[in-house]
Order: sequence, then structure tokens, then C-alpha cells
Amino acid sequence: MTAFLIPDNYQPRADLLAGKSILVTGAGDGIGRAAALSYARHGATVLLLGRTESKLEAVYDEIEAGGGARPGIVEMDLATAAEENYATLADNLAGELPCLDGILHNAALLGERRPIADASYGQWCEVMQVNVNAQFLLTRHLLPLLQQAPGASIILTSSGVGRTGKAYWGAYAVSKFATEGFMQVLADELENTSTIRVNSLNPRGTNTAMRRAAYPAETPTDNPSPGDIMGAYLYLMGDDSAGVSGRAFDAR
Ligand code: NDP
Repeated sequence: MTAFLIPDNYQPRADLLAGKSILVTGAGDGIGRAAALSYARHGATVLLLGRTESKLEAVYDEIEAGGGARPGIVEMDLATAAEENYATLADNLAGELPCLDGILHNAALLGERRPIADASYGQWCEVMQVNVNAQFLLTRHLLPLLQQAPGASIILTSSGVGRTGKAYWGAYAVSKFATEGFMQVLADELENTSTIRVNSLNPRGTNTAMRRAAYPAETPTDNPSPGDIMGAYLYLMGDDSAGVSGRAFDAR
């Protein structure tokens, strides 16, 4: 599969996301943290969703210290949240916001790196719950609020092993193939019935805790840091990508 790239030398406007409300999952660390900070710097009010309160609070403080709009914190463990928790979240947000302009589905679990023959069913289910089912539940319950926005953007986070399967990547790889499938189905459904666009984005090797766990022999600094790859995250979230939907992107 040939992935799309964002336009060469893309330069986001400083106020690209002004007035927009954007939910970022896994906002406490890694790429999600960098995206939350970057979205806030470009004017968005960011809703920080994650499972570790202290990390979310640190991002909240950093956004406030940088003069960004006051973010919201949504503490939620996507491995254990029940459907009613998503419904309650959607009700609460609908009570506070006129619309939701975007979701960055970013939170994911790497799970175990093992051959399928030895994989544990429990870990398989946990990876699928966080990486696939949570995306469905969040999207399903937040679609009405996304529909209220003039042109909302949904970004689903993929991976190289979600486009070409590789030995020992187990549930993680399968979950990312499912993510690509979810993106295509949703984009096709929404194409003629709404202004919501849906795309997938593979950040490619980036220096985070997940990457270091997956590739312990690598020199971490050989990979870009999360802050270095934000161009694609901004392009796909902001109006510069209006009309672009159903595509699989690489961040670089
Ligand atoms: P990290 O492990 O650094 O960060 C993952 C984030 O997801 C953390 O904030 C983590 O929270 C959160 N998270 C994990 N499980 C849950 C859960 N059950 N409920 C709520 N939040 C949860 O990963 P990256 O930043 O590297 O990855 C971000 C995305 O990019 C993922 O979708 C990943 O698959 C993808 N990706 C990354 C690549 C890379 O090289 N880094 C390459 C290809 C794809 P906490 O910090 O509290 O644990």
C-alpha cells in the first residue's frame, strides 16, 4: 500500500485550530502528549483523555503555562471503560460544548511480541479493547457532537504493521489493520452524509516509550521525537485538509 504524505513544506498557520475543541486520547505521554501541546499552541481547546491522572495534569499545566486555552481532563482507562462511560462522556461534553471539531485516536497498547502460537488470549483481548473497540465506542458516542461542527476531523493512528503484517507483532498488528478498516468504513459512510473527514496516520518510528519497548536494541535518538512529526497531525486536524477523507497517511 502506498501511503499519502502531507503537502511538501507544509507550514501550519499559528491560529490553525483557533476556536476548535479537539479530543486527544493517550494525551499524557508520547505522541499524544506532543499533539495535545501542539494543538493547544495552534489555538485549540484540547480535551486530554488518558488513564494516568498525574500525566494528564502535567500536560494541562504545560498548556496553561504556555498561554493556551484551558484544557479539559478526561481520566478514563480504555481497557476497562464500559459503554455507559462513553455515553456519559458524550452527554457531559454535549452539555459543555456546542460541537466537537476533532478526535485524535492515539492511545494504544503494544501488547506482547510473540508468535500467534504462544499468544495469550487475555492480552489479545486487552490490545483489541484499547486499540480497536475503544475507537469504535468513542466515535459512536461522539458522532452527534462531531456532526455539529462545520467540518470535523477524525484521525486514527495506524502503524507500518497495520499495512503489512509481520511475524511476532500479533494483536498489535491485527488491531492496526482493524483501524485501517474502521477508517475506510467510516469515511465511506460519512462521505455523502456529512462534512466529517476520517483518515489514518502512521507516525512511523518515533522516540517514545512504546518505540523503545518494541525496539530495545535501537538508539532511541536515531528516531525523531514526537514534537518533530507534528506537521502531519496539524495538517490532518486543521481546515487545510478539508475534503481529504478515507486516506491512509504517513507522517513523513
Ligand atoms: P506511548 O506508549 O508513548 O503512549 C501511549 C499513550 O496511550 C500513553 O499516554 C498511554 O497512557 C495511553 N494509553 C495506553 N493504554 C491506555 C488505556 N488503557 N487507556 C487510556 N490511555 C491509554 O506510545 P506512542 O506515543 O509511541 O504511540 C502513540 C500512537 O502511535 C499509538 O497508537 C501507536 O500504536 C502509534 N505508533 C507509534 C509509533 C512509534 O514509533 N512511537 C510507530 C507507529 C505507530 P499512559 O502514559 O498513562 O500509559
